[in-house]
Amino acid sequence: MEYSDQALILAVKRFREIDAWVRLLSPTRGVYTAFAFGGLKSRRRFLGCLDPLNHVQFKVRRSGYRGYHCLAEGKLLDAPRQLRSHPQRLGMAVNCLKFFEAAPVAPGSFAQAYGLMRAMLSTLDAADEPSPLFPLLFRARMTFLHGMLPACGQCAVCGQPLGHDGAVCHVEEGRVACPDCRAAASGGVHARLGGEALALLASAVEQGPEQWAACRPHPAAGREFSRAVDLLVRYHMGLAWEQGGFVRA
Ligand SMILES: [Zn+2]
Repeated sequence: MEYSDQALILAVKRFREIDAWVRLLSPTRGVYTAFAFGGLKSRRRFLGCLDPLNHVQFKVRRSGYRGYHCLAEGKLLDAPRQLRSHPQRLGMAVNCLKFFEAAPVAPGSFAQAYGLMRAMLSTLDAADEPSPLFPLLFRARMTFLHGMLPACGQCAVCGQPLGHDGAVCHVEEGRVACPDCRAAASGGVHARLGGEALALLASAVEQGPEQWAACRPHPAAGREFSRAVDLLVRYHMGLAWEQGGFVRA
């Protein structure tokens, strides 16, 4: 069986002398691994294709025996122009990529995840000074895609709209309540969210990478938002960032 697939390259690992395996994200198949036999030698079949973060049109053969995927040839669709030579922006992209890989999305979200990853890369490729909160906003959006981010438009207890007065995020319960309802809440870990931090949570869900790169909140709001996202990710996704990677928390 042979098919054509547009995919984003997440990783390339060499094995033996000239062969490689390639981890791909496709809008229809999600994340999968394919072999590129002779891929590191063949200039013609994979011209400029086999590098992480490239967007490539592949011809793929599915072997009947054991059912593994083999890349027959590739055509480069686009690649980052500046990202690889800007360590700080590349670091943000790698952080987003690692989080994405640590929390595999369900088949119903493949196309959305693919669109988000492509937008994340093209934004970081073009933005001169993306907001330091960019990876956190991406993480919050992925948490939302997994259905693990509490709604922040209205109080989860009394239904009042949340806004300037801020709110409190009840981490274990995964919900956000207004200050009045806070007293009635049970114990557990709480994260305070001022009006601006709430707006950041809303931006993670409703806006996209371009707006995230441009956001310049007050540092205190950035800290509130970061703390809430870290706690929610740790508790509900079971992931924490440690020593350059996401580990099971
Ligand atoms: Zn309330």
